[in-house]
Amino acid sequence: GSTLEIKDLHVEIEGNEILKGVNLTIKGGEFHAVMGPNGTGKSTLASAIMGHPKFEVTKGSVHLDGEDVLEMEVDERAKAGLFLAMQYPSEISGVTNSDFLRSSINAKREEGNEIPLMQFIKTMDENLDFLDIDKDMAQRYLNDGFSGGEKKRNEILQLMMLEPAIAILDEIDSGLDIDALKVVSEGINKMRSENFGCLIITHYQRLLNYITPDHVHVMMQGRVVKSGGPELAQRLESEGYEWIKEELGIED
Ligand code: ADP
Ligand code: MG
Ligand code: MG
Repeated sequence: GSTLEIKDLHVEIEGNEILKGVNLTIKGGEFHAVMGPNGTGKSTLASAIMGHPKFEVTKGSVHLDGEDVLEMEVDERAKAGLFLAMQYPSEISGVTNSDFLRSSINAKREEGNEIPLMQFIKTMDENLDFLDIDKDMAQRYLNDGFSGGEKKRNEILQLMMLEPAIAILDEIDSGLDIDALKVVSEGINKMRSENFGCLIITHYQRLLNYITPDHVHVMMQGRVVKSGGPELAQRLESEGYEWIKEELGIED
């Protein structure tokens, strides 16, 4: 499996420091959850790793298997094996879902070693079935007119098709009804293997009833302030974040 190593990461948006030294290491085979109150920089962490231009890394490093991720162009990060599901997926008109997936898969492969069309279709059909997504969805333009739930399912379809080494899933559970939440979770659970590591960012503990993380991290004020096992997420669900602030002497 691969290793994503985030060290002392500092990130600014428009001159404001949002991340103030984040340290996290995610290895293949591991599911990590990052939780924390609103506005603590969870989405900033995801965006910075994927190279959103608005987020300026002022200090620290991100390495994937020793390669400097911050030196890579955005498309190179995906080719290197990173996957990011956005909190608000954007619409790309004029490209069908199916075309997008096939070209994304082929972008990760050597020239002359493209995925055979029949194999692509077969895998796509299996995954559409598994995720209970309408077959027509493959031929629709990417995210164009998709409902919130459809977008989320579609992101998990992308995840299953692209088989990244490390995925960062930001609020993949937001706005999902219980059936969609189960399907999305099953998709992520199906990915579990030594060759897949995952960082699941979520504001609520609910998702973690379906996906059991190996490690849980709490982010506050731009730092990871506490790490533990699945029991930490349960305690946050029942007691909130106040006790951590008291324990660590964090002021609002
Ligand atoms: P979280 O995901 O934990 O709720 P965010 O990373 O979205 O937190 O936001 C962290 C802080 O950065 C907040 O104070 C937010 O207002 C600010 N922020 C986030 N995105 C932007 C942006 N595009 N421009 C300016 N400030 C931003
Ligand atoms: Mg938020
Ligand atoms: Mg967020």
